[in-house]
Amino acid sequence: MTAGTRVRHFPMHVGGKAVDGGDHLEIRDPQNGELVATAASGGAAAVDAAVDAAQAAFDDGGWSRATPAHRASVMRAVADRLGERLDEMVELEIMANGATVRQATGFHVGYCAPHLEYFAGLAERYEFETPMPRATFPVLGQSTLRREPIGVVGAIAPWNFPLLLSLWKFAPALAVGNSVILKPDEKTPLSALEFARIAEECGLPPGVFNVVPGPGPDAGARLASHPGVGKIGFTGSTDVGREIMRLASGTVKAVTLELGGKSPALVLDDADLDIAVDGVLYGCMLYSGQVCESMTRLLLPDSLHDEFVERMVARASTIQLGDTRDWETDMGPVVSAKQKDRILELIQSGKDEGATAVLGGGEAHVEGYQGGHWIQPTIFTGVRNDMRIAREEIFGPVLSVIRYGSEAEGVALANDTQYGLASSVWSRDNSRALDVAEKIKAGSVWINDAHQINCEVPFGGYKQSGVGRELGPRALDPYVEEKNVHLDLSGTRD
Ligand code: NAD
Repeated sequence: MTAGTRVRHFPMHVGGKAVDGGDHLEIRDPQNGELVATAASGGAAAVDAAVDAAQAAFDDGGWSRATPAHRASVMRAVADRLGERLDEMVELEIMANGATVRQATGFHVGYCAPHLEYFAGLAERYEFETPMPRATFPVLGQSTLRREPIGVVGAIAPWNFPLLLSLWKFAPALAVGNSVILKPDEKTPLSALEFARIAEECGLPPGVFNVVPGPGPDAGARLASHPGVGKIGFTGSTDVGREIMRLASGTVKAVTLELGGKSPALVLDDADLDIAVDGVLYGCMLYSGQVCESMTRLLLPDSLHDEFVERMVARASTIQLGDTRDWETDMGPVVSAKQKDRILELIQSGKDEGATAVLGGGEAHVEGYQGGHWIQPTIFTGVRNDMRIAREEIFGPVLSVIRYGSEAEGVALANDTQYGLASSVWSRDNSRALDVAEKIKAGSVWINDAHQINCEVPFGGYKQSGVGRELGPRALDPYVEEKNVHLDLSGTRD
């Protein structure tokens, strides 16, 4: 942005209208810290107004009582429009979160249209009514199980995949007829605000999908505790997830939580190093390590340790940091100065606790991008699983290598964490890897691969990595209430 250029402003989207006034959020490009946009910032009052608008739209029935086929057709139209506006949406995403154009095109935004289409298909096939077996005891009767939209649903999203992780909540909720209020992260509201406008152009009635950017402890907390909101879908840190549970408990709301991780890559002693070295690096370093399921603990058997580390360091040294809009760039900055400082503090703790940074280990300086938030791809060896770098989620390009002796010891290390979001196992022997996968306490185990997120397969965490699952064939279930309608037939002659 050159001096004197006016930055674009994004109002909130409530009740089908652009709503402004009050505070503004400053959206800054993580690669140089420059102001690139502003967005309206709402608090509790804005959330209250959005809940009223969402409830009115729900009561109107234009969406909540529309046929599943109609809702699916609107969702498919939105998916098509997203495809047409892919480059523009990618730009809105990367100007705020620092993803590379390659990642955002393939993943952040590229995944959105197919995921929307998947949810549209689920809606068409969804069993909104299931007749139960006819009851003969204690009375003759017929029950029918009805699945109805909850009403007004809240979604609270993080900054790392701003549109996609919001869509994992609002799209299944909309697919079954709910109205939604989305509170995006304060750093990255742009793509969701644009999405809301696109959705209404494609036929989503006003008030059905509302976006209120604003501070978590204010707008987010009000959404989680609001008596008019029947369900909260949340992705973010485990600490805030606990707070969401607490806030939702006041009105006994259902919650789905996708939280943090400290996922292990468990390399077995028969792993194919040509596959595993690249795969492990991809598992940890993609998007500067800012993926909740990143493989940040590498468990290496003694027999492979030295060769693996040598090959991996050589390969990781070729990772290109640079302009996020350049298709050749491998790695961009981390999202904010706060995040950079936290990563650097954790890197320092690793050194202080006795681990060795065999690659990187500090801030990176990228020519032409002063003021940005750059971290060197970092690999630590000599890590013990009780060190902070092995226990705390770093959310940066930092890999901790931990040695193990027997396979049982490797499995025990993999499971020795408060988290259980994902994991990977690397072996030439599929049946051995499948046996090991059975012993790992995590929502996903990828064998000889990483980051295999697929909308047709449920995703979520064991232990403190979350509650419930998103995606997969049952993705709509968390957004309905089940109602048993019982018809007494004891007085009926048939
Ligand atoms: P965060 O928890 O700080 O923020 C997430 C969202 O919660 C933001 O919209 C924020 O404004 C809001 N929020 C913050 N405080 C709140 C409060 N008191 N009440 C209500 N809302 C509040 O997390 P983050 O920094 O945005 O994201 C990083 C974390 O998210 C990491 O821990 C990462 O592992 C996790 N994450 C998990 C998944 C997953 O699918 N499991 C995916 C991406 C990120």
